[in-house]
Order: sequence, then C-alpha cells, then structure tokens
Amino acid sequence: MRNTVGIQRKDAIACRCSPEMRRNEEADWLDSPPKQMNSTCDVLVAGGGVAGVPAAVAASRAGARTVLVERENFLGGTGVTALHRYICGLYANGSSEPTATLNAGLAREVVVRLRALAPSSHPLPMGRGWGFPFEPAHLRTVYESLAEGEAHLTRRICSTVQEVERREDGSIASVTVQTPEGENIFRPRAVIDATGSGAVLRLAGAPYAPAPDPNRQPGGCTLHLVGIEGDRALLAIKIAWHLGRLPAVEAVGLPAFGGFAAGCDEGEGFCRFSFSQEVAVHGPQVIQQRLEQVHAVLAAHVPELAHSRIIGRFHLLDRDGVRLVGDWELDEASILEGRKFPNSVARNAWPMESWSSEGGPVYAYPPDHDYYGIPRRCLHSSAVPNLFATGRCISASRPALSSTRPMGTCIALGEAAGKLAAIYR
Ligand SMILES: Cc1cc2nc3c(=O)[nH]c(=O)nc-3n(C[C@H](O)[C@H](O)[C@H](O)COP(=O)(O)OP(=O)(O)OC[C@H]3O[C@@H](n4cnc5c(N)ncnc54)[C@H](O)[C@@H]3O)c2cc1C
Repeated sequence: MRNTVGIQRKDAIACRCSPEMRRNEEADWLDSPPKQMNSTCDVLVAGGGVAGVPAAVAASRAGARTVLVERENFLGGTGVTALHRYICGLYANGSSEPTATLNAGLAREVVVRLRALAPSSHPLPMGRGWGFPFEPAHLRTVYESLAEGEAHLTRRICSTVQEVERREDGSIASVTVQTPEGENIFRPRAVIDATGSGAVLRLAGAPYAPAPDPNRQPGGCTLHLVGIEGDRALLAIKIAWHLGRLPAVEAVGLPAFGGFAAGCDEGEGFCRFSFSQEVAVHGPQVIQQRLEQVHAVLAAHVPELAHSRIIGRFHLLDRDGVRLVGDWELDEASILEGRKFPNSVARNAWPMESWSSEGGPVYAYPPDHDYYGIPRRCLHSSAVPNLFATGRCISASRPALSSTRPMGTCIALGEAAGKLAAIYR
C-alpha cells in the first residue's frame, strides 16, 4: 500500500531553507532525476515542533536510533512561529503559585533551560491556571541544544515526509522523506506523527477524526506590534472596550478580540484575535487584510496604539485539527473528574476551551490542585501497529483535545510517545 495523498513534491520545498539551498535543490531536480537513498532507523519522528523534539530526544535517550524529520530549517514548530507568550499546560490549577511542573522529565527540563536564559521568569496566573512566560527565540535555542546533545539522534531539517508505505499486516514498512539531498526512504521500526496536522496519519491511511466542518471553532492569530506608547498594563481592557463600542458598520468583518500581552521590549505587544471559519476559508491574504484593518481601527481609537506598527503576524491557527483514532479516546468526563489511569503517560490540568465567533471562550476545569492522566492508548493507532501520534493529534474527543493541546502538555506527550516508540517491537 503506497499513499501520497495530500502532500505533493512542491510542498517539499515550501520551507524556510535559504534561497541558495532551495535554488540548488530545484536545479538538481531539473538537471537530473532526484537521488534516492535507503536508510534504516528504530524510530522516525515526523515533525520537529513542540512535541516532536521531546519525542525524538526521549527515543534517543532510550537508546533507539532515531531520525527527526522537520520541513522547516529550525526546531520548535508553533512554539517558535505562532507568537505565543506563555507555555500553558505545565502546572496544576489553584490560587497559589505552583512550585513544580505536573510532569517531570523533559517538561521540567525545558522550563529549567528556559529559566537559565531568562532567570526572572516564573509562572503567571491565567484564569484558574498558570502559564510560564517565554521568548519563542529561547525555546528554539533550548530545543536545538536538546537535540544537538543526543548521541542516537539524527536531524533532517528542510525535509518533508511525503509518502508512507504499509505492509500486508497494516504496519508501516517505509517512510519517504524529501530532503535537500534527494529522496530518502527510511524503514523504521516505529513512526511518530508529530506534524501537528496528522500528515503521517493521512499518508498512512490510518483512521483519524477529521476536523469537523461546518461548526468549526474560530481559529486564532496574533499581531506583533511595536511603537506602543504609555502604559501597557490596561491595554487588554481598553482594546476590548473600544472594539465593543465600534459602530456596526465599522465593526463588520472584524475578528473577535482574544487578549493582549506586553512584550519584553519597550513599546512591544501582542494582540490576539479569533477569526470565524467563514473568514478563514477566504485564505491567508484576506486574513492579512483584516488584521491590517483591525490594526488601523485600533490605532484610531486607542491612544497608546496611535503610532504602533505591525512587525509580525501569525497565520490562523486551527483549533479543530486532525486527531488520531487510537486504542482509546480521551473524553470530557475523564478530564472534569480528574481521572487517573493505570497506564497514564502524562498528567494535565489545563481546562477545556470552547470558542465561538459570538463571544470569548468558555472554560471547563479539572479539579484544582489535581490533574487527570492521559493513557498511553491515546497515543497509539488502533489500526497501524507501529504508528504513534503525539502533540495536537492524539486520540481525544474534540472538547478533550482543547485541554491536551497546550504546549506544556504537548512536551510531556512528545516525551511519552518517544519512550513508547523506542520500546515498540
Ligand atoms: C489559536 C491557538 C492558540 C494557542 N495558544 C497557545 C498558547 O498561548 N500557549 C500554549 O502553550 N499553547 C497554545 N496553543 C497550542 C499550541 O499552539 C499547539 O497545540 C502545540 O504547539 C502543538 O504542538 P505540536 O508539536 O503538535 O505541533 P507543532 O508545534 O505545530 O509542530 C509540528 C511540526 O511538524 C512540522 N511538519 C508538519 N508537516 C510535516 C511533514 N510532512 N514533514 C516534516 N515536518 C512536518 C511542522 O513544520 C512543525 O514544525 C494554541 C493553539 C491554538 C489553536
């Protein structure tokens, strides 16, 4: 069984590799047929993002010969690109500042390493929960240094998983990766889908729950601003107040405001918005225009933003992604009651978030000072014996996934997937 659905060769070069590297690559393809290489490894991790790097590091630390495939030219995925300010899902909920992460292992190690780069960082309250403030560039440094130090880990950046072949028994026989040097066919013992989009699940023809359509939750995106004047402490309230009072005609088509966070530099800030799926279907250009429009409206109404400039924006992040159909599906009841399982591989206490276009999110929390467990069966495909999924693609109901997708939880889930794949026989 060979499957290339959804990912075409042109996507293989849609990464942030240097233009020179890309030109050489394209020239190679024009002049000669692509080179093909065959390699074996114990574990192949597809996607070097928030969950993929911990997965690869954990597999390597367990002694497995591991290959980490990442289509961009850096590690860290949405943790680096999405302009997030806080790592959520690391701590239990409650009124007192947590002193330790819920999960030991790599989640704790990442926090320790981030703190070494920004010693004054400490958990900050977010609703009934806690978030750890971080700089995306620091996360990238931490992830790259984690991966660099691993004896059994080979990194393949600027490389895209684009084909998966299965055996008669349903297991994955090979994974074809487009690398800058040519096509590389790996024959791993176990594969981890850490692509955030279920790319391997889809290529393998493994059962998955697609994003529901219609009734999808609005996607989120962030505007990175500089040149903000005056006090930024009350900006979240001021922006919400002004947007809420816009005349109907001016407010048409504007996204729902999701919050504001001040940046570390003077005058720097991050505005979050949610766009309904009706807007999202029009594509990134329409989103860009709307973001510029909303910035102009804000600059006209909020004095602190009058001279602000946009220096970055992150495209729409989907709240309803592809999910594995695993040996077991995590459900809402388990989260709300703080259920523990004998085979739990990660702990989590982040609330379920339900977003709608009309208003802000509604949160449903597990008990304070407690957590629920995520069983290892949520990471294993029900149909493909040597396939695991981690990060935002695990087997969870749609509401349950909104609790398990924060970065802190994804780090722990990545580590768990790496350990499980390393011992898969
Ligand atoms: C609107 C929104 C706001 C959020 N805000 C926060 C927040 O403030 N704090 C927080 O903690 N969490 C937040 N999250 C959650 C968080 O962003 C993600 O759920 C989490 O980072 C997912 O991690 P991941 O490893 O699964 O995916 P990613 O970090 O996206 O990693 C996937 C990696 O796979 C690579 N890849 C994809 N396809 C291929 C392929 N075919 N071959 C090779 N590589 C491939 C990608 O380049 C990427 O590097 C938010 C989520 C949403 C939807």
